[in-house]
Amino acid sequence: MATGSGQSRLWHPFANMAEVKDDKFVVDRAEGVWLYDRDGKRYLDGTAGLWYCNVGHGRTEIVDAVAEQMRRLDNYFTFNDYSNEPAEELARRLSGLAPMDEAKIFLTTGGGESIDTAAKLARLYWARRGEPERTHLISRRQSYHGTNGLGTSIAGIEGNRHGFGPLVAEATRVAYDDAEELRAAIERIGAEKVAAFFAEPVIGAGGARPPEPGYLEAVAKICAENDVLFIADSVIGGFGRLGGWFGVERWGLRPDMITFAKGVTSGYLPLGGVAVSARVSDVFWEAPGAPFMHGPTYSGHPSVAAAALANLDILERENLLARSRELEKPLHDALLRLADHSAVAEVRGGTGLIGAVEIEADILAGDKGLITRMQKAVRERGAIVRVLCGNALVVSPPLTITEAELTLLADTIEAGINAALTA
Ligand code: PMP
Repeated sequence: MATGSGQSRLWHPFANMAEVKDDKFVVDRAEGVWLYDRDGKRYLDGTAGLWYCNVGHGRTEIVDAVAEQMRRLDNYFTFNDYSNEPAEELARRLSGLAPMDEAKIFLTTGGGESIDTAAKLARLYWARRGEPERTHLISRRQSYHGTNGLGTSIAGIEGNRHGFGPLVAEATRVAYDDAEELRAAIERIGAEKVAAFFAEPVIGAGGARPPEPGYLEAVAKICAENDVLFIADSVIGGFGRLGGWFGVERWGLRPDMITFAKGVTSGYLPLGGVAVSARVSDVFWEAPGAPFMHGPTYSGHPSVAAAALANLDILERENLLARSRELEKPLHDALLRLADHSAVAEVRGGTGLIGAVEIEADILAGDKGLITRMQKAVRERGAIVRVLCGNALVVSPPLTITEAELTLLADTIEAGINAALTA
């Protein structure tokens, strides 16, 4: 084991610890789009961490902004009437960027908390509107909405829901690519019982799947026709990953709520939140009544907010949203060169800086470890990719990557696939 002296006690998420405890990849430092291990070997960060490091690593502006804030007011909470200027400023700024009228911003510490916040808010909204029976949550197969209680209940990746005992029963999954299934589900359940529909604009963890043309517009319309709240989960899609601030602009969507995280700080510090449209927030902001009995300790943490503000400055100053839009075709083209490879079943992407290379099922069948060996062979050759759905190598590079580095990424994936096949 290469993790220092003694046996590791660190339990890794989504990991088979029986294997990982003795075999770890220890990242030592990072700069721009490059990671370095402890031997000084460098790796192209083809995934921007877990889809989040949109501005790249080593941004001293973010470090300095956080240090300055920490020296002034390191931390304080925002429960009840307590506030701080970085949290206020961040909410003002995000509200101005969100594609909804007078967005209110509820801050959390990550994506999963944001999903659970949005789900609770949706149910409470209906209860306050006098329709407490609207509790049902609909999501899509293959969707990922974090690992908190409600997010686990609506998970569209089957394996992420099992083994935990009974989850929320009022949860239904529909096909990820067929809007008519949503309409049918709402009819079957009864619109008067449905609180909200959750959708990632581009499915991330479920295999990097862009929406079918017209799909998102159609589900938004079905939600509106049935008075069901439409919640876009832009935890991956926001802050430039799909070319806009909140991951939905390219389809002209105006969701009732948008969950965000990851790219809002480029992962420098943990932050998430929910942008809430006036339709929903008015019930809470304009009417006296009971408070929303919900909120994580670090909601509105001033030093985290300072990281987000500095990150937004970089995204704006360097025009990284436009850059993402420019790079999405070169990324897709680079990966498409692998489409003719005999081991490749499909290349997905072309909508935002997200791409997947799916390996042929018959090649993977009978060799359970092959896809992981491919990922590790890519890594040994100097690039980070992720395995998703057990059959795809997925990339989501920083928005600062160059076209030459995109080519290098695709070449390294090809070399890794070939090496694993011939080993
Ligand atoms: N929603 C989506 C679409 C995500 O991709 C993720 C994380 N990958 C989450 C929610 C959960 O976010 P977190 O891991 O920060 O809780």
